[in-house]
Amino acid sequence: MAERAVVAGAGPIGLATAILLAEDGYEVIVLEKDRDGAPASAEEAWRNWRRHGVPQFRGAHYMHARFRQLLDAELPAVRDRIEELGGRWFNPISALPRSLPDRSARDGDERFWTITARRPVLEAALAQVAEDTVRVKILRGVGLEQLVIGPSAQAGTPHVTGVRTTHGDELKAELVVDAMGRRSKLAEWVAAAGGRPPYEEASDAGFAYYSRHYRSRDGQLPEFRGPFAADIATLRVLTLPADNDTWTLALVPMAGDTPFKALRDNHAWERVFAAFPHAAHWLDGEPVSDVIPMAGVLDRYRRLVVEGHAVVTGVLPVGDSWACTNPTAGRGMSLGLAHAVVLRDALRSCPGDPVGLIETFDRVTEQTLTPWYRDQFHRDQQRAARCRAVIEGREPDQSVEDPGLRLMLGAVADAEVARGYLDALACLVLPTEVLDRPGMRDRLATIAAQTRPAGLPGPTRQQLVDIVR
Ligand SMILES: Cc1cc2nc3c(=O)[nH]c(=O)nc-3n(C[C@H](O)[C@H](O)[C@H](O)COP(=O)(O)OP(=O)(O)OC[C@H]3O[C@@H](n4cnc5c(N)ncnc54)[C@H](O)[C@@H]3O)c2cc1C
Repeated sequence: MAERAVVAGAGPIGLATAILLAEDGYEVIVLEKDRDGAPASAEEAWRNWRRHGVPQFRGAHYMHARFRQLLDAELPAVRDRIEELGGRWFNPISALPRSLPDRSARDGDERFWTITARRPVLEAALAQVAEDTVRVKILRGVGLEQLVIGPSAQAGTPHVTGVRTTHGDELKAELVVDAMGRRSKLAEWVAAAGGRPPYEEASDAGFAYYSRHYRSRDGQLPEFRGPFAADIATLRVLTLPADNDTWTLALVPMAGDTPFKALRDNHAWERVFAAFPHAAHWLDGEPVSDVIPMAGVLDRYRRLVVEGHAVVTGVLPVGDSWACTNPTAGRGMSLGLAHAVVLRDALRSCPGDPVGLIETFDRVTEQTLTPWYRDQFHRDQQRAARCRAVIEGREPDQSVEDPGLRLMLGAVADAEVARGYLDALACLVLPTEVLDRPGMRDRLATIAAQTRPAGLPGPTRQQLVDIVR
């Protein structure tokens, strides 16, 4: 008989994990506490799909090339479904800054191709494919309530042998996957099962996200006159292509920066957005949403292997439930998908060995994905410190190296740096590894020595404060 896996959470990474495990022969039951099933069309998904379990559901989302590469390799049916639902093929090479002396195409630029869409459309594609996958059963409106513990696989460590659902049913499983997102209560459940506490760190860098979606009036995507993520004064400005002639714009201030709380108002938000010369023309579309605010976004990371020993076996956290960060670099889905593949591969290499499974999963996660978490955490902290300094009228501390920022600034002046920046942005190569490429630091030093780093023109903080009021 096929082994059974219960996946808790039908977000994108839970669904991707379910498909991958079913393809490997598992019978997979997905539990999702939200009731609504996946709508058939992009428009229905955008307008009607209620997903209370995912606060960011209608917030800004953009998929990077790493996501597309993983779909090509592991889930081509999902890539095809995103395309059928109107997903947009996009290569950020087509948006290289005008300031670059050489903007011609190069061999290898095809690695930057991606397919992207608004989040409800992406998730509809994943859910439709999961529903069509043999051996995947999705139970919507049914949550995971409690872990069920059985005989230990390792002395003194609780071993999960199933789950109790919110409907009171007990489902036995050889493996439980926690894909319950950034608000997963796994740590509490492990404690309730008598396990030692997992390692956990969490902090809020303090950014707020104000997103709004637009549809093209003429079928054209606005021209890129700057990078699609630009830091100007104390705001980050995002211009993101999306599906079906739509795009998403977002402004990201510090959550505690009082004047900018007014950005939740459509008119105030538009006035501020219009003040950025490289991005103002993106407002020339039909709005398909009001401003969608979101704050309280934690950077949180956990491990179930503490001091070399598993605190629990039989359950593995994947995607945001393992680690989540501020989304200004838009990495969550790409890294979550990579994590689902790590989980599938760990299962392949440790059949019938729950202790080996969790240790392998932890080791490979640490080697391949934790460095991305650390990089994002570091960048969030640096950016928050720079913003706070400007808000308080102090000189920002430039002494701490921020590899991602150096690449972002250098990308407007040097075609080689621009590709390095895109490699990091697309989650293909860590920023620190890009910096270590032969000649890269010299190039960046040359750019930095030029009169003034070629930053984008834009309003000062005081001008933005005057505009938003
Ligand atoms: C404002 C914002 C913008 C973002 N922008 C981007 C972006 O541009 N690009 C990008 O790649 N990523 C982005 N992200 C990150 C991305 O949204 C997450 O990485 C992604 O949602 C993770 O998917 P997941 O399946 O792990 O978790 P989730 O999507 O959070 O799904 C978790 C699921 O578990 C369900 N659930 C919870 N508890 C239970 C329970 N007890 N029983 C059963 N089900 C349960 C929930 O209802 C939900 O459906 C953004 C995040 C935020 C906050």
